[in-house]
Amino acid sequence: PASVPGPRLKLEQVFIAVKTTGRFHRTRLALLLQTWISKTKAQTFIFTDTEDENLRAEGVNLLVTSCHSDHSQQALSCKMSAEYDSFMASDKRWFCHVDDDNYLNPEALLSLLSRFPQDGDVYVGKPSLDKPITAHELMDGNKTREVHFWFATGGAGFCLSRRLAEKMAPWASGSRFELTSAKIRLPDDCTVGFIVEERLGVSMVHSPLFHSHLENLLLIGHRSLPQQVVPALRPRCFLLSCCSLSLLMVLSLLQVTLSYGMFENKMNTIEVQGSFTKEDDPSRFKSVHCLLFPLTSWCP
Ligand code: UDP
Ligand code: MN
Repeated sequence: PASVPGPRLKLEQVFIAVKTTGRFHRTRLALLLQTWISKTKAQTFIFTDTEDENLRAEGVNLLVTSCHSDHSQQALSCKMSAEYDSFMASDKRWFCHVDDDNYLNPEALLSLLSRFPQDGDVYVGKPSLDKPITAHELMDGNKTREVHFWFATGGAGFCLSRRLAEKMAPWASGSRFELTSAKIRLPDDCTVGFIVEERLGVSMVHSPLFHSHLENLLLIGHRSLPQQVVPALRPRCFLLSCCSLSLLMVLSLLQVTLSYGMFENKMNTIEVQGSFTKEDDPSRFKSVHCLLFPLTSWCP
């Protein structure tokens, strides 16, 4: 993105939507509240399907939707629709969505979004496919039409500018989001891509700074480093492996989102040597958080 002069974007201007479900409140969500959400509490809105008094008592912005608590296309589109409508009703400039297994780095997010024209049409995220997805849009008379478009994986997080979100309204507001999703028979994140790229003709901005557990998280940073850099640094390092490892660790800390989860039957996480063992911090989110915010009370 081209850099534009002007006042730097503030966190207060970003609406951060987190999608979760009742059975993940005490596991996944608690970890996020302890870590990055503690820095973005007022701007972060939790979209769930189950009331939770403990979360309310903590002062979390909890939005209990009437969406089903399952992993179906319909239930997930229902939550995305609620996220979109809540953002539209807010006064924020940017909409960002993450899942409850994402770590969001607030400073990295702000510097990414600041580099876009603030009143432009922006859809930024990371695709998990290496080519546009093919969908079969249902048409009148049981016909279908093949359409191709990029979409940002919901599990890696993505953002939309307000101006673009406003243009999406004819296919996204109220009950329309779920209708659009049903029309292409694809999940919520694909539906956002369909509306932006296919309906509005706006191209998604592909960013390497978003990460889902569908990619090998151990490789974070490797791609953004020019091939020559690591070997070139080696002779200067006292401990070769140590040097390139900490470089990669720094790169992890510059990403906008991170994730964790199972991938090909193995635990997929980023590699950081933090203050917590893999047993105490299997997701590595606590270690990342303590590297980013070392003054946090529970950080060693
Ligand atoms: N999720 C949900 N309802 C469910 C299962 C999952 O809202 O019944 C949410 C979950 O909280 C997460 C997202 O959907 O934010 C993706 O779920 P998960 O990470 O379990 O699966 P993935 O699609 O990443 O494999
Ligand atoms: Mn996930």
